[in-house]
Amino acid sequence: MRIIIIGGIAAGMSAAAKLRRTDREAEVVVYEKSSYISFGACGLPYYVGGNFDNVDRMLARTPEKVRETGIDVKTEHEVLSVNTQNKTIEVKNLQTGEVFTDNYDKLMIATGAATVIPPIKNIENAYTLRSLEDGEKLKERMQDENIKKIAVIGAGFIGLEVADVAKELNKEVCVFNTGNRILENVLDPEITEILEENLREQGVELYFNSLVKSLETCSDKTKVITDDNGVEVDLVVLAAGVRPNTAFLKETGIEMLENGAIVIDDQGRTSIEDIYSAGDCATVYHLVKQKQVYIPLATNANKLGRIVGSNLGGKCEQFQGTLGSSCIKLLGMEAGATGITEADAKKMNLNYKTTFITDKNHTDYYPGQEKISVKLIYDAETKVILGGQVVGKTDAVQRTNVLATAIFTKLTTEQLGMLDLCYAPPFARTWDVLNIAGNVSK
Ligand code: FAD
Repeated sequence: MRIIIIGGIAAGMSAAAKLRRTDREAEVVVYEKSSYISFGACGLPYYVGGNFDNVDRMLARTPEKVRETGIDVKTEHEVLSVNTQNKTIEVKNLQTGEVFTDNYDKLMIATGAATVIPPIKNIENAYTLRSLEDGEKLKERMQDENIKKIAVIGAGFIGLEVADVAKELNKEVCVFNTGNRILENVLDPEITEILEENLREQGVELYFNSLVKSLETCSDKTKVITDDNGVEVDLVVLAAGVRPNTAFLKETGIEMLENGAIVIDDQGRTSIEDIYSAGDCATVYHLVKQKQVYIPLATNANKLGRIVGSNLGGKCEQFQGTLGSSCIKLLGMEAGATGITEADAKKMNLNYKTTFITDKNHTDYYPGQEKISVKLIYDAETKVILGGQVVGKTDAVQRTNVLATAIFTKLTTEQLGMLDLCYAPPFARTWDVLNIAGNVSK
């Protein structure tokens, strides 16, 4: 049995490692375009921001170590095409330029995603943050004292994480977004307003409903030109979303979503027999939306990668579904979201209700008391919780994790109201903010 995995990062290497443990006999080959494997891109903003300096800390395993386990890792090899009839792939050795054909019995596509490059004039002068090389280039520029003002195009997780670390490096920051608020696909306005107020208070300029048209560079300065504005900066970072790396599969007939994400089932199987996929190039099943959706996160990539690894080894494991749980640290605040947003509930035509409350993270006499706000989205009749978001200066993300568990186990707001959560003055109030949110959700 010859099993080929295309892409050697979170999904691909999780699959390869699990496959090796499941089936000691199969020939396992990983083709990876870059010169490294098992790269944790989630660390990039903090590497760029100077929280640590050794790039190796973002590399969980070296190709040499993995080869010792009997997995044939071929870095700097790009897969150019897949022939699903003959079960072959065409591969280019990027070091020698040689193009050759390899054959598989089973194939996994784990090619991840790439930064979307919008049609902005001179956008090639902007920096992106996806690969290790991107991180090294951006870190070098960020540490240059002559770089005083940075423009970020895109107000999603990556753009805002860059804004966060840039402010920590004492840069001036402005953020351009085509939408009318930050993180609009993940958080509802009650939560983003709190984060935006904090960003503005700390001097971040937010330009909403702002379509960047061109970057005009003159000596060391770049002017970011929008429909109605022009802001001069020293550096531009582009973070306007990602798209699945699946263009090379166009002729295969593998079913994809409109954005090119490969549609998989709960075992990671694609629409073509013996071809599996997982990670940022594929869909995930959303437990509340009850359909395959595109949510490119390391959490999903690792879990589905491991399941595909088992199944490539002959098992029949199933993914239990995602809630799209995600979180961010943003200039002294943190926020988390899980399940669906109110906007999702509207789109799904659900009979829903919401609660939004602000309380305190812990008892007032213990130092460090801060505000914390919770939003719940729940079924109007059954009171089953469908979505939750938490924001505050501290303790918001771990409370979001409690909500993820509540949604996964289909708790009602009444049950959340009486849920036995921990209490001691440094950690909570006798009635935790989540209990209160549950109790006021009638
Ligand atoms: P990728 O990591 O994209 O890896 C795919 C690999 O396939 C690449 O190395 C690529 O070179 C290779 N490849 C592509 N095409 C070919 C080809 N034709 N032939 C051979 N090889 C190919 N997620 C979170 O959950 N939490 C976070 O905090 C978080 N922070 C992030 C911060 C940043 C800056 C970035 C960029 C991402 C972040 N993510 C985060 C997302 C997370 O990194 C991804 O979800 C995860 O890397 C996806 O893993 P993957 O294996 O599917 O794809």
